[in-house]
Amino acid sequence: CGIVAISGSAPVADRLIDGLKRLEYRGYDSAGVAIAGTDGLDRRRAPGKIVNLQALLDADPLEGTTGIAHTRWATHGKPNEANAHPHLAGRVAIVHNGIIENFRELRQSLQAGGRVFESETDSEVVAQLLDQKLSEGLSPVDAFEATLGELDGAFALAVIFQGEQGLMMGARRGSPLVLGYGEGEMFLGSDAIALAPFTRDVTYLEEGDWCVLTPDSFDIRNARGERVNRKRVTSAVND
Ligand code: GLU
Repeated sequence: CGIVAISGSAPVADRLIDGLKRLEYRGYDSAGVAIAGTDGLDRRRAPGKIVNLQALLDADPLEGTTGIAHTRWATHGKPNEANAHPHLAGRVAIVHNGIIENFRELRQSLQAGGRVFESETDSEVVAQLLDQKLSEGLSPVDAFEATLGELDGAFALAVIFQGEQGLMMGARRGSPLVLGYGEGEMFLGSDAIALAPFTRDVTYLEEGDWCVLTPDSFDIRNARGERVNRKRVTSAVND
């Protein structure tokens, strides 16, 4: 339903929550945050309102300067904690808006290969597939591109990696995704409103685009994997 993600140079947990609050108007049934910190990937997820997630973070904070956050509107699987995003598999954490149409086939073949799923969602196949490709020795960028090539359906994705603080990737197919530019920070959001607390300097990714971000770099590719330049505009939303 809603995505906010930051590849930054300062702690991100509070700001991710701020961004999620801007997306509350869209409706959701659960929310979650994952961070790539010095100790690896960690996450907090809660059914219900964002205040529930905030309470978890207050009791048990997440440290780190790269993170992804999500408000979920369940399409596959009950609205509970296990099905809330971010989904984790091995070295990756992902958030997903939309529907992965071929998730049953992907899930079956991943399970046949020994992978154990933790949720009932269509989304978890993205995390499992990506982690599988990393285990096969692909680089994060190649693994992400290969994963996108196997997905059918509508999605916006944001992804972070264990041991790769600062690295963040996003993809847009059938579900909007906005890239935001900061000072030594890069952002992803499912709409410009989510990014309004941080930046109004944005690029609306085009259909099929995906991107590789670090706090001080961005690389946008089209569906064929070619590097592309996309228009950078000032979003009209107010903070
Ligand atoms: N299909 C996914 C799920 O049910 C994502 C739903 C959404 O867009 O929030 O978890």
